[in-house]
Amino acid sequence: MSQTPDLLVKDLHVAVEGKEILKGLNLEIRKGEIHALMGPNGSGKSTFANTLMGHPRYEVTSGDILFHGESVLEMEPDERSRAGLFMAFQYPVAIPGVTLANFLRATMNARLAPPETDGSGKVPTKKGIPPKEFRALLRDKMQLLRMDESFAGRYLNDGFSGGEKKRAEILQMAILKPQIAIMDETDSGLDIDALRIVADGVNALAGPDLGVLVITHYQRILNYIKPQFVHVMMDGRVQLSGGADLALQLESKGYDWVRETKEVGAR
Ligand code: ADP
Ligand code: MG
Repeated sequence: MSQTPDLLVKDLHVAVEGKEILKGLNLEIRKGEIHALMGPNGSGKSTFANTLMGHPRYEVTSGDILFHGESVLEMEPDERSRAGLFMAFQYPVAIPGVTLANFLRATMNARLAPPETDGSGKVPTKKGIPPKEFRALLRDKMQLLRMDESFAGRYLNDGFSGGEKKRAEILQMAILKPQIAIMDETDSGLDIDALRIVADGVNALAGPDLGVLVITHYQRILNYIKPQFVHVMMDGRVQLSGGADLALQLESKGYDWVRETKEVGAR
């Protein structure tokens, strides 16, 4: 593969509260590809996702994350989002009183808005996407994702089930049209319906303009999403990468097999 990866993670080391969690993570993702990052609980999957989006608690001690050849490490989370990175939140917040539709329009306008004022001291007056245009876009995306239109009128995550939260994230992803999307799954409490919603959404949105990284410890999500690349993360780095067949091997042999395989070929 000669094409430069859109997202390139190079020997990434990350510490949380002084403790090293990621210990030399390497990963390459291109638009048009679906990757799965798997690994047992505590292996550092969420640490990687949070680092990617610029969570302030995660300190990059060495290595780099390049997006289109440029380091994102000095970029704020909103700049990363504007550049085309998207991360679905593992634990989305509820905002009673704000409908999902209004929230989505606001996020979209925040994306379109200029990052600074014109210097006059006035609040920028850029209006963003016209309401009618936004409604058409929203309707279009909801049809694509086979979501009921009434869903957009509900208050954001207020009383949403696990599956509905996932549905809201997928819709946000459809509206924001990122180039690289990272879906970090909760390690517990995600029922099969929610897994299927994520899978259906990813499959509906996948295409040449989108690269996806699905992070999960469940092999079973791969019954619904067919990744071209599977990476197994253990002890803070990718220990093994392969094609979709690697997920099947994991399913039958478990993570211990990866550990043993590594030990056989140990340096
Ligand atoms: P995974 O998502 O693969 O289950 P995590 O990235 O959540 O793994 O966790 C990896 C390790 O980092 C664990 O030992 C966890 O306790 C630690 N860790 C992650 N985030 C934090 C945090 N915010 N504060 C303290 N420790 C953390
Ligand atoms: Mg996690």
